[in-house]
Amino acid sequence: MPQRARVYVDYAATAPLRPEVAEAMRRVEAEAWGNPSSPHAVGRRARSAVERARADVAGLLGCAAAGVIFTSGATEANNLAVFGAAGAAPEGRRHVVVSAVEHHSVLEPCLALGRRGWAVDVVAPEPDGRVAAERMAAALRPETALCALMLANNEVGALQPVAAVAAACRAAGVPLLCDAVAAAGRVPLREAAAHADLVTVSAHKIGGPQGAGALCVAPGCALAPVWRGGRQERGWRPGTENVAAIAGFGAAARLLREEEAALLARLRALDARLRRGAAATAPQGHAAGPPDPALRVPGLLTLAFPDLDGEALLVGLDLRGVAAGSGAACTSGSLRPSHVLQAMGLPPQACRFPVRLSLGWGSAEADVDAAAAALGEVVALQLAARGRAAGGAGAPAGWRAGARLSGPGSRASSRSDSRSARSPAAIRSAASVTEIQVRS
Ligand code: PMP
Repeated sequence: MPQRARVYVDYAATAPLRPEVAEAMRRVEAEAWGNPSSPHAVGRRARSAVERARADVAGLLGCAAAGVIFTSGATEANNLAVFGAAGAAPEGRRHVVVSAVEHHSVLEPCLALGRRGWAVDVVAPEPDGRVAAERMAAALRPETALCALMLANNEVGALQPVAAVAAACRAAGVPLLCDAVAAAGRVPLREAAAHADLVTVSAHKIGGPQGAGALCVAPGCALAPVWRGGRQERGWRPGTENVAAIAGFGAAARLLREEEAALLARLRALDARLRRGAAATAPQGHAAGPPDPALRVPGLLTLAFPDLDGEALLVGLDLRGVAAGSGAACTSGSLRPSHVLQAMGLPPQACRFPVRLSLGWGSAEADVDAAAAALGEVVALQLAARGRAAGGAGAPAGWRAGARLSGPGSRASSRSDSRSARSPAAIRSAASVTEIQVRS
């Protein structure tokens, strides 16, 4: 069993490798270590391991195995999707539509197109992190080459209206890229994959190894190669395949498909328990994202503490053996505020170090209870220290009485925040560019 923190609640950053996956990878490393392009028996064993994994990933997504392109992860898959679709676009189509809450691996390639003279529409979310389908649809133009909307947001869990946006894209003849990374293992992927033309997933979020991912391309969707080299992955991802990692990805996808219904039911129960626990121990936190469980994925809770030092809370949790996250792992440590929370209109201090608690295949009630208890401890300690520093007991100056986990009165769901949520300046600064169009 891999070494883990005593309490691991950071599955959205990466999930621990499933033991069955580790075993499958060891077998492949021992028995199918050849180059899949070699025509001899050793190579053929490696080829068959890759093709079995392709069928397993296709099974999870409900797409044709022929459409699956293995990559080094979802970052590469998203880059390939954006630049590949842009490269294949007919003359005169030099416009992309992208939601403001996409992962950086989707946003940044779109913004790079902007620096090459493309028009880029970045569509702002509602205050709860959901992006209105009508706004995405309204941004489509005759010259649009690609539209990107993730299935679920990795920071606040908001489920996005992919089916409705896909219908608008289909009517406009625009390919839709759907990043399904944060949704995998939290909601069934097959339906979303049925709608989008380009779907991306990552192995390490579902108990597979880091360094493997896939782009699934629907039949008829044009995609230009981005890299040049050999004919691996039919030329879209040249280079010798990482056979063991791909086989591990396949094993994780197969297990998830077999256990999906049970896992999702367990996650929903754990999610409710986590929210109840955190509301009891740390009521000062604002739960970002939709309060309605039907509008978000289970097992992902991001709490903003606008009046507390979120970084110190995370350090305190770590010292108590609780590994929690803070928004997107790729940007944590860089002190860049969360572009997602900013786009949702949360105040800057709340965007800097939110506490993200995320669950997955190995999570148990004991993890949830321990995380909620530790969170209560670190919040209480910080409040007490502030009280002492202020020369008295109680809350620090500026403490908002009544701040609660997301509900009708919370900032995250308050209607009055919608103006700042759509502020072009907020989105531009979040996206760190100036040449984009922000749609409201
Ligand atoms: N998209 C989303 C929504 C993600 O959460 C992540 C990982 N943080 C990625 C893409 C990139 O995945 P990978 O780590 O496989 O490059």
